[in-house]
Amino acid sequence: MKLPVSTICPSCNTPSYTEYIDLGAATKCSACGEHTVQKVPLGGTTPVTGYEIRFADFIHLVSYSPYKSEILPLLAEKLGYTIPEPLDPDALYPIHCKIQNNSEARYMLYQAAMTLWR
Ligand SMILES: [Zn+2]
Repeated sequence: MKLPVSTICPSCNTPSYTEYIDLGAATKCSACGEHTVQKVPLGGTTPVTGYEIRFADFIHLVSYSPYKSEILPLLAEKLGYTIPEPLDPDALYPIHCKIQNNSEARYMLYQAAMTLWR
């Protein structure tokens, strides 16, 4: 599901759209060419999602110790993804995309995250 969110480039302030699941991932700005993390402007809204999580949330889930101890075994045993250490966003991003593009894996991760975030 495509869920574009209005974002702005922190480097040149050019407005653009970023897919919800890509929020928190560094991308090359099409206007200024900087490799930056697009920001949701103050007062900006994010769409209601169908169990998608942002890349920023995925990073948090696999790096914050109390979450990590629940999430890493789930990813490894149920989904077959081993998270490389030390954490490298460039290595995590393809894993994030695979999970977000697989409805069953996406739902499983979302449910686990919601249990932790509650
Ligand atoms: Zn820019």
